[in-house]
Amino acid sequence: MSSLPPCPKCNSEYTYEDGTMLMCPECAHEWSANAEDNAADDIKVIKDSVGNPLQDGDTVTVIKDLKVKGSSLVVKVGTKVKGIRLCDGDHDIDCKIDGIGAMKLKSEFVRKV
Ligand SMILES: [Zn+2]
Repeated sequence: MSSLPPCPKCNSEYTYEDGTMLMCPECAHEWSANAEDNAADDIKVIKDSVGNPLQDGDTVTVIKDLKVKGSSLVVKVGTKVKGIRLCDGDHDIDCKIDGIGAMKLKSEFVRKV
């Protein structure tokens, strides 16, 4: 019953439980004992093909030809996409591409400009 994790802030081992929270007596930090809660609180970092973190409003270029689902259109490699919006899901970038319209991209197929 004594396997509480150390304080993530100051590394103190004297952490204790208070309900569903863990408390640190040394720096007064408190955090959720449920690791899944912590994961959900984390801001998900979406990265481009080379590992640059992406943000809403960034401009990216497409690094390979991408077929647009349900049409014969292709987003050509090198296409510049302005003002991306990050979203959840398999395709994690919401954007609008000239000549094509609103579509979703995968962050692994773009590169930040
Ligand atoms: Zn602490």
